[in-house]
Amino acid sequence: MRYSGLKVITQGLFGNKGWGAAWRSPEPKAEYDAVIIGGGGHGLSTAYYLAKNHGLTNIAVLEKGYIGSGNIGRNTTIVRANYYMPGNSEFYSHSLKLWEGLEAELNYNVMHSQRGQLVLCHSDGQRDTLARRGNAMLNQGDDAELWSRERVREEVPYLDFEQTRFPIYGGLMHWRGGTARHDAVAWGYARGADQRGVDLIQNCEVTGIDIENGVVKGVQTTRGPIRAKKVAMIAAGRSSQVAAMAGMRLPVESHVLQAFVTEGLKPIIDHVISFGMGHFYISQSDKGGLVFGGDIDFYASYAARGNLPMVEHVMEAGMTLMPMIGRAKVLRSWGGIMDMTPDGSPIIDKTHVEGLFVDAGWNYGGFKAVPASGWCMAHLMATGESHEVARRFRLDRFRTGHVMDEEGTGSQHNLH
Ligand SMILES: Cc1cc2nc3c(=O)[nH]c(=O)nc-3n(C[C@H](O)[C@H](O)[C@H](O)COP(=O)(O)OP(=O)(O)OC[C@H]3O[C@@H](n4cnc5c(N)ncnc54)[C@H](O)[C@@H]3O)c2cc1C
Repeated sequence: MRYSGLKVITQGLFGNKGWGAAWRSPEPKAEYDAVIIGGGGHGLSTAYYLAKNHGLTNIAVLEKGYIGSGNIGRNTTIVRANYYMPGNSEFYSHSLKLWEGLEAELNYNVMHSQRGQLVLCHSDGQRDTLARRGNAMLNQGDDAELWSRERVREEVPYLDFEQTRFPIYGGLMHWRGGTARHDAVAWGYARGADQRGVDLIQNCEVTGIDIENGVVKGVQTTRGPIRAKKVAMIAAGRSSQVAAMAGMRLPVESHVLQAFVTEGLKPIIDHVISFGMGHFYISQSDKGGLVFGGDIDFYASYAARGNLPMVEHVMEAGMTLMPMIGRAKVLRSWGGIMDMTPDGSPIIDKTHVEGLFVDAGWNYGGFKAVPASGWCMAHLMATGESHEVARRFRLDRFRTGHVMDEEGTGSQHNLH
């Protein structure tokens, strides 16, 4: 069923009884050309582009829970292309262009809102760094504006400009950045893949990967064995556990990241704002809730819930940046499991096992990457060659030293 304004009106007039399921619930077949482990944003977009761009439709996405139960439905929805390093820069630029056509492409309202993302700076050195980042963004063909302290004050007067601990020196505005509704992105890709013949198998956990003489043969699941010529591991926070089924030790540590939402308020925050010193960021959802988050909980964990010291840290950073936030009531908080690499950049590559691919290491920035990750992973699986915008996301870069330390924090998973 194609969605349209007219459909919404006619369905509304007749009691909304004519909507069909958005995708089928097929039984798993004994064999597929390709199997994708993980029905998050990246697994679903990979399936979609394998079918759409490469005509491969005998595919299954195996999801141990339900579609949208992982990080794709837990993130704080920020979409941007403000990366600095070669490799990341062209990849996220490609992703943002895909975002800009995504709703028409999927015939699905993912509520993509390019409301602008503002990163604040709090010292001369930080302003220089933002200027350099802005130039890299412009060179890549994306947008960037360096704002003075006065301009920031004009646009977002509710920040605390009097505080002396982290005085606001200015900021870098990226107008094409913004937000999108996270779970709608999963549903849109799921529906699009299903329409092209991809089987989405929910409640189907992969428990083993079958390999014979260095060649992948299929997977073991809680719903029986499935043979496949190609297997893609796209399990985000569970990547290291899934890779261990193939005898691999990935350079990935899993850490928890928390998010918070307040009660609905009248419109106050127009943009996405990132506090350059406190690792705090905030936007306002269309329902009015202030959506914000901060750093990861610094210990490794597979639990999709966080701990109180980080809650306190995030609240303190929020109060430092905009004391008015203290009047709002926090309604909900939750956590997701982040697949952190040592250099903070992702992996889209083949493995040493023929037919086995890996897409992982999205750290806490993988939501904005969903379209390009699927696009590039599908390219790799279909052609055997890395897509040009993802060719630096190699698994062996941690052995060869070609790391992409975007944050400049050094080789430590929990600091990126
Ligand atoms: C609080 C929070 C805030 C964030 N904010 C942002 C943001 O603002 N912007 C941004 O760009 N990114 C953000 N992120 C990061 C982003 O959400 C993730 O990087 C991205 O969603 C990960 O990819 P995914 O969608 O495929 O993951 P997931 O949705 O987690 O998909 C992986 C799937 O694999 C499944 N799986 C695991 N093991 C198995 C198995 N053995 N068998 C079958 N299935 C399995 C899981 O159930 C899961 O559904 C945030 C994350 C969190 C938690």
